[in-house]
Amino acid sequence: MQQVDTVIIGAGMAGVTCARLLTDAGQRVVVLEARDRVGGRMLTERSPGFPVDLGASWIHGIDDSPLWELVQTLRIPTLEYTVGSFQAGGRPMMHFDGEGRPISAAASARWIDDVASVDHALHAEIARSSPGDTYLDVTERALDASGLDAERIDEVREFFRHRVEEQCGAWIGDLDAHGLDEDAIDGDEVIFPRGYDEIPARLAAGLDVRFAHEVSRVDRDADGVTVTTAHGVFTGASAVVTVPLGVLKAGDIAFTPPLPTDVSGPIERLGMGVFNKIFLQFPERFWPDDSYLIRALGEAGERWHSWYDVSAISGLPTLLTFAAGPLGRHMQTLTDDEVVADVLLALRALYGDAVRQPIAHWVTRWGLDPHARGSYSHLALGSSHDDHDALAGPVDGILHFAGEATWGAEPATVGAAYYSGHRAAERVLGRPVDLTAAAAAVIARERAR
Ligand SMILES: Cc1cc2nc3c(=O)[nH]c(=O)nc-3n(C[C@H](O)[C@H](O)[C@H](O)COP(=O)(O)OP(=O)(O)OC[C@H]3O[C@@H](n4cnc5c(N)ncnc54)[C@H](O)[C@@H]3O)c2cc1C
Repeated sequence: MQQVDTVIIGAGMAGVTCARLLTDAGQRVVVLEARDRVGGRMLTERSPGFPVDLGASWIHGIDDSPLWELVQTLRIPTLEYTVGSFQAGGRPMMHFDGEGRPISAAASARWIDDVASVDHALHAEIARSSPGDTYLDVTERALDASGLDAERIDEVREFFRHRVEEQCGAWIGDLDAHGLDEDAIDGDEVIFPRGYDEIPARLAAGLDVRFAHEVSRVDRDADGVTVTTAHGVFTGASAVVTVPLGVLKAGDIAFTPPLPTDVSGPIERLGMGVFNKIFLQFPERFWPDDSYLIRALGEAGERWHSWYDVSAISGLPTLLTFAAGPLGRHMQTLTDDEVVADVLLALRALYGDAVRQPIAHWVTRWGLDPHARGSYSHLALGSSHDDHDALAGPVDGILHFAGEATWGAEPATVGAAYYSGHRAAERVLGRPVDLTAAAAAVIARERAR
């Protein structure tokens, strides 16, 4: 049995942030991690000779963002790429109509206007929605009131459905009407040409992280917490649980005594969505140089609809597309070859034979990953915004929860994980902790090595 001040479960962004802050404050901390790496859902594949971000890619808005401040302090290079939140316009995009024909700049502009005007009406419908209304209900009401013709309605409807799938990993009919309330983007979005997982890796340097330590139970009593893994038992005055909501929902960790309903209720009510990535690297470019994104509207985009040009990362022609919600769950049951063939079919409907066989591909299956059991949390019908923060606890003053699902102001993001790790550290210590100073300390330690 090993005794520390705080046991942290999970070495993703929330876990390493919390561990970093507590360690820097002088605590004895151990981080128990089921995988053989830090970063969790921030995962950069570097074996091809360039980084491929298989988990998170974007900071969704850098204005007034402490996460962006951390990136600046750590002097991590970024690329502006402001399409990561399923925008209709705002940056150059190549649009195709429902039959797969490229549409004119004027038709694109009209479609972007249609989305903006229905979105405006949608906000009003959400504001006047009743408990039990889904995002599909409010969307249909806004579309009905739009006065657009049937074809234009179909194109906007498809866009809203895909937006929910990408932002929440969920089917539009399963999301609460308020499920995208927190989806505001302040400022540019950026991606990471050296790979996003550099951040948790640098925060974790020097921490006591035990890999392949999957936690199976957490007991608590008046003396503190006892955390059990296949490789030993760890005790502490407090514990911070940062495993994904999907892992909590599956009951992979037994809590004794059972969690109070203040915490178990949110675990049951909130949803865990599926959002997967497919990267295709081509022998040559067949799409325009100046488009951030290729998007097929209406029927042509029913399954595969948006391809993001991420060639700037590797210098090789590369498109990234997503499979989220029901499609994301379905594609996880297919082989890589089947997934790639299906995506190519959709791309060839737009670009014909110019689409050659890819020279490389990467396909994720986060919903099947036993240490994630999904991609990120969302407001399933029957849950409320308060459920996110209620999930953080603490329970009996000693058992804390952190991670993206516990941060109601911006769930499902790296920022949420970072801020929730900070909040848990402050709660464990019972005093404020300066995040800016913590980032500066990382740099100071790196220089001293
Ligand atoms: C494909 C994809 C794309 C995304 N894109 C973006 C994006 O562009 N921008 C953005 O902001 N966010 C994005 N996200 C969300 C973002 O990655 C997460 O919100 C964030 O990384 C979550 O961090 P976390 O610390 O809460 O959880 P995690 O990173 O999941 O960390 C939890 C850790 O707990 C470990 N664990 C699980 N079970 C156990 C156990 N029993 N015992 C011990 N350890 C355990 C896991 O292995 C993991 O390391 C994306 C996510 C996915 C999957």
